[in-house]
Amino acid sequence: MLKKELLYEGKAKKIFKTENDLELLMEYKDSLTAFNALKKGEFAGKGALNCKISTLIFETLSKNQVKHHWLKTLEGNQMLVQKTTIIPLEVVVRNVIAGSLAKKLGRKEGETLVQPLVEFYYKDDALADPFVSDDQIVAMGWADLATLEHLKKEAGKINQVLKSMFEKIGLKLVDFKTEFGRNAKQEIILADEISPDCMRLWDLETNKKMDKDRFRQDLGEVEESYQEVYQRLQKGTQI
Ligand code: ADP
Ligand code: UDP
Repeated sequence: MLKKELLYEGKAKKIFKTENDLELLMEYKDSLTAFNALKKGEFAGKGALNCKISTLIFETLSKNQVKHHWLKTLEGNQMLVQKTTIIPLEVVVRNVIAGSLAKKLGRKEGETLVQPLVEFYYKDDALADPFVSDDQIVAMGWADLATLEHLKKEAGKINQVLKSMFEKIGLKLVDFKTEFGRNAKQEIILADEISPDCMRLWDLETNKKMDKDRFRQDLGEVEESYQEVYQRLQKGTQI
């Protein structure tokens, strides 16, 4: 049996040990949460959908020489990944003003930034993942400056690959969140998931939101939008 004991259950995934000490099994859940889990929902099949969407994205990143933890997708909502020690930062990349940045700077959503922006947030649910400066990160010992430069470069490259992939299927990549970890060889690789739960995607023609904002803002058609993102990606990545 591949799947062994449960190591961790988070808001969106369960992490299991496997027979191989270097690998973890990641099981995507059907639950949806927002506003640091104050708002909760779910739909049947959401875990499997996000697992399939993440898989197509990791495959595209592989073709573009981005190092990541994904090894193999198993049936349904499970994937095998390289075990890493997660750097406790949420690395957010933004192309267009939206969400917390729009609120913080008093701007309307939809304005394209002069250049893509990479921001770091400290991964701590109890503190609601606060924004942290490079100096704060170094002073707290979470990462050194060279690591931060590396993360910015990798996040920027991932952004270029994903932005152009989504443009081809009629979607604007507004922003997204990533996490990075160190594997057994101490290489820094992209970890966690990339799905509509952790990115903003707007239809290029209509500006319709196709991501978790539909749940956050009670816009309806959450499941349909995730399905559509998957179907467009599936067609797009077959070409
Ligand atoms: P949260 O912890 O925010 O509720 P999830 O439910 O998505 O989020 O839980 C997944 C957990 O697994 C996260 O804490 C994430 O940092 C961690 N994780 C993701 N990929 C890896 C990996 N390759 N190695 C170790 N931990 C990982
Ligand atoms: N994001 C995420 N997890 C978080 C915080 C943000 O996946 O804990 C994603 C979010 O979906 C969006 C991007 O990161 O695509 C930027 O989020 P923002 O800072 O605007 O915060 P939000 O308004 O989503 O709370």
